[in-house]
Amino acid sequence: MNTDTIFALSSAPGKSGVAVVRISGNNLNKLFKRIVNKKKIDSRYAYFTNFKDDNGDLIDQCVALYFNAPHSFTGEDVIEIHCHGAPAVINKIFEFLRGFGGRIANRGEFSQRAFYNNKMDLTDVDGLIALLNAQTDKQRQSALKSLTGHDSKIYNAWRESMIEISAYAAAILDYADDELPKNIDKKIIEKTKKLLSEIKSATSNTRATRALQNGFNIVLVGETNVGKSSIFNKLVGSNRAIVSDIAGTTRDVVSQQIDIDGYLVNLSDTAGIRESKNKIEKIGIEKTFTEIENADLVLYVYNNVPKQIKTDGITIINKSDLLKKHDNKKVIYTSAKNGDGFDKLLKIIKQKMHKLMGGSESKITVNERTYELLKETIDELETAIKKYNGNYDIFAEHIRRASDSIGKILGVITTNEIADMTFSQLCLGK
Ligand code: GDP
Repeated sequence: MNTDTIFALSSAPGKSGVAVVRISGNNLNKLFKRIVNKKKIDSRYAYFTNFKDDNGDLIDQCVALYFNAPHSFTGEDVIEIHCHGAPAVINKIFEFLRGFGGRIANRGEFSQRAFYNNKMDLTDVDGLIALLNAQTDKQRQSALKSLTGHDSKIYNAWRESMIEISAYAAAILDYADDELPKNIDKKIIEKTKKLLSEIKSATSNTRATRALQNGFNIVLVGETNVGKSSIFNKLVGSNRAIVSDIAGTTRDVVSQQIDIDGYLVNLSDTAGIRESKNKIEKIGIEKTFTEIENADLVLYVYNNVPKQIKTDGITIINKSDLLKKHDNKKVIYTSAKNGDGFDKLLKIIKQKMHKLMGGSESKITVNERTYELLKETIDELETAIKKYNGNYDIFAEHIRRASDSIGKILGVITTNEIADMTFSQLCLGK
């Protein structure tokens, strides 16, 4: 691994009150003394400094901190310069650091160093990526859980169990019965089965995990002119969809991300479903069916109670202001015109979301990378159990492979591609 001096803007680019430039490398002691103009420095102490270039000209008035290795984010010496958030200041600081032998960090290079210095494992990095991408409160909570080691703890415990099981299986072959714990062959198969069911149950609610990470898909469906776009606008709280009296104006799917109760929601307004000869409108109607397939919740919109009420989504009777009777308990009456019924609609939407998400928050966070490796783990454990009958060596090999897959999730066993792919998702300065 490179240990040359790297630097990057760790705060968002552009103008800001304060910006943070982060530097990581070996022996940054000298550099820090130069920045703060002091002969003796303390670690983790905020220095106010008139930061000057080599000609003695002022670069900026800053606050600077020094974190000595290994007590830093990367495990190397780290310096943070809190400067004014002006592009000209940042460029000048970068120029100074280049003159000092530093170079701009690659994407995710700070985290990569933290990983190689055992400051983070790959599930922690996954958590960091998720946290930096978090748009809602639930996403923030879930990402922080991974970042602070909740998932690592579970994976490590699984891996230790697997290593223990495969060691016992190997021992059955090498040692006489009286040298081994009683009923060890029964115990290890039971332990394997228990482990398998634990991993399966932790990964079973992938729909909820997907919805938590990428958004809960809610789609509005119904005939043209029933008020879908108006409901969409009401829910979004803005005017993204075209509201018009001419039938079939919403020809495409209009989507907007919104935050409901801390969950990210992808709300989609679709083309009205009706027989159409118009080619473009037909495409729109086809897209509606795709949206329904991918939906976590469908809002069926009508203007009158239909003969058959669908049981899988929420049935909305809109334009309630034009109706005299509001007496069907299986539907929700709304008026996009005067806002009636929207509190109730939101309440039911929240209930349905919580039901799908139920319990998912206590389990591990699964992403595409970990999902594939967990599938491999489950496959290996299942094969091990199938082949168990006396074949302790084959059994041990499959358990070992399962533990390797978990090791890859943690990054304990890493192929460079896995690590590179993970770090490349991070931004500069992380
Ligand atoms: P969509 O084709 O299903 O998306 O329907 P729109 O949202 O475009 O609405 C069609 C027409 O119905 C528009 O003129 C809206 O102003 C009107 N509309 C929508 N919701 C209501 C409602 O709750 N009450 C009344 N009276 N009119 C509504």
